[in-house]
Amino acid sequence: MAVERTFVAIKPDGVQRGLVGEILGRFERKGFKLVGLKQVTASRELAGEHYGVHRERPFFAGLVDFITSGPVVAMVWEGDGVIASARKLIGATKPLEAEPGTIRGDLAVNIGRNVIHGSDGADTAHFEINLWFSAEELNAWTPSDQSWRIES
Ligand code: UDP
Ligand code: MG
Repeated sequence: MAVERTFVAIKPDGVQRGLVGEILGRFERKGFKLVGLKQVTASRELAGEHYGVHRERPFFAGLVDFITSGPVVAMVWEGDGVIASARKLIGATKPLEAEPGTIRGDLAVNIGRNVIHGSDGADTAHFEINLWFSAEELNAWTPSDQSWRIES
């Protein structure tokens, strides 16, 4: 499994509900490495680019209203297979269909307030990381306990 990076964002509802620590902790405990982290209130332009694939969908305007309504906690996580694994940790888009144990399964009920975003593939991860972060905001570092989490 190759080392990858993925973009994850705690949406404004997750921040407002005080779930930042809970959500960050799940990725940390899993063993992924945090390489970028910031709080940002997105402009409509940034939100529109981020959700550009959904531009023609009926929920698009409401989604942009919601995502720009308050701060988002934007993150880049790194690790073996992190793109697909983050999607698994996050759970299904509809929280009522998300398995218990997943973030959406445990912490949300409404599709329009599903607390977290995660890139859905390698191309989207690349696009979204570069959209939300500059190169200087990303940190290459070696956790001191790395040998306990990966085979060397
Ligand atoms: N969304 C919504 N209504 C819908 C479908 C999607 O409000 O009928 C929102 C929801 O917040 C979702 C986001 O649009 O997380 C992006 O949709 P996508 O299908 O890409 O889901 P995700 O990748 O977030 O699981
Ligand atoms: Mg998506």
